[in-house]
Amino acid sequence: DKIREERIKYLTDEKRIKAVTVCFTDLEGRLHMLDYDKKFLLKSADNLTFDGSSIRGFSAQAESDLRLNVDWSAFYWLPSDIFGPGKVLAFCEVLERDGTPYHSDMRGQLKRATEQLFQKDGTVFHAAPEIEGFLFKNRDAERHYHEEGKFEFISIGGYYHALPGDGLRAFIDKAAEAQRAMGFENEKDHPEVAPSQFEMNFSYSEALVAADQIQLYKLLCRQVAAQQGLTASFLPKPVTGVNGNGMHINMSLSKNNKNLFYDKGGQDGLSAMGWEFIDRILNNANDICLVLNSSVNSYRRLDPHYEAPNQIKASANNRGAMVRIPFGNERSARVECRSVAPDANPYMVLFTLLKTGLEGPQPQEDAETKRSRTRFLPDNIYDAVRFFKGSQFIAQTLGEQVQGKYAELKVAAADRCPKQLGTRVKDAEIQFH
Ligand code: GLU
Ligand code: MG
Ligand code: MG
Repeated sequence: DKIREERIKYLTDEKRIKAVTVCFTDLEGRLHMLDYDKKFLLKSADNLTFDGSSIRGFSAQAESDLRLNVDWSAFYWLPSDIFGPGKVLAFCEVLERDGTPYHSDMRGQLKRATEQLFQKDGTVFHAAPEIEGFLFKNRDAERHYHEEGKFEFISIGGYYHALPGDGLRAFIDKAAEAQRAMGFENEKDHPEVAPSQFEMNFSYSEALVAADQIQLYKLLCRQVAAQQGLTASFLPKPVTGVNGNGMHINMSLSKNNKNLFYDKGGQDGLSAMGWEFIDRILNNANDICLVLNSSVNSYRRLDPHYEAPNQIKASANNRGAMVRIPFGNERSARVECRSVAPDANPYMVLFTLLKTGLEGPQPQEDAETKRSRTRFLPDNIYDAVRFFKGSQFIAQTLGEQVQGKYAELKVAAADRCPKQLGTRVKDAEIQFH
């Protein structure tokens, strides 16, 4: 198609570009990258294969050969001062050997779902994440584990602090610059509530772009932090006793550039469609909780004392509620899901929220009564796994294969963790999330 031709021509003509980083995401949300020499990629773009059996949670031995299909519309410049000279990055779709979609590639699932929605009647799904993170002093390379509380803040900066000459400020400035260079539409950035915590917001976009940008944002933050001799962490609750890291997801649907969630006269400025979307999410909150909060650590975050929601309800101002309805106008009216942690698979999160909001089983009783009675999300991963595994809706939506495999991975991860709350966190968790 046209975009593909354009990008290939650009790559061919642009002498400064030497390599193309091609990436995909595994079922648990880890970003994987391969760097192809540009000349090689231009020759073999239609025939990229890899061994899926070496990617945890991807492929069984028998189906080990998978293919990569470059998504030429998901194409980013990598700023050379951060990623080295002469590189661009492209996301790709993972396919079976015969070219059919690979079921555990959630990016592909999200892409197809949003395309179908648009083809059906022109509806577009928009999302904007609010990703929080911590900036820590570097880990001691000799030790494989951290004792609890051994994460060291690099700054005492908290909410909106000015921080002249502070390491957190220097980090935020550099990361924002990198975002701009990569084409993110920055909106605002600031130190968050906990010491050494930060949040940087960029503009909402079509859901697939938003999910790609979540992966890129975390990557660039880690890269900038590493350059400054520091560690950026998106673990949901790295330090007890202070706020954790959320990844609130703001969502809306539009058609012909008209926001379908807006109704001036509706409750909290939301349309009936907006409320139905919320009701379906709340009604299936337990079933989808494992997708939104996918790690042992994320259940430590879900404590309303730290502005992290565990109540299955919607509210315009209660930050302990799973869904918040931010004050909005015709353009900005939206639904904010707060019970999402930044170590979740962003493609799976957006795919599941979209499917649930549109097709999830609706409450039997009057939604009004349902909304007023408080229920709570699971407070540990094993309960969340039980809901997820037992869910007919999840089986239909994600498919039985993904349902089974994902649950298995999550139980294995939970079993690897020390049982006592708040104890040691594995290095691997810190690196990847
Ligand atoms: N850090 C809080 C969380 O874990 C959110 C704070 C805020 O509302 O920005 O969700
Ligand atoms: Mg925040
Ligand atoms: Mg928020």
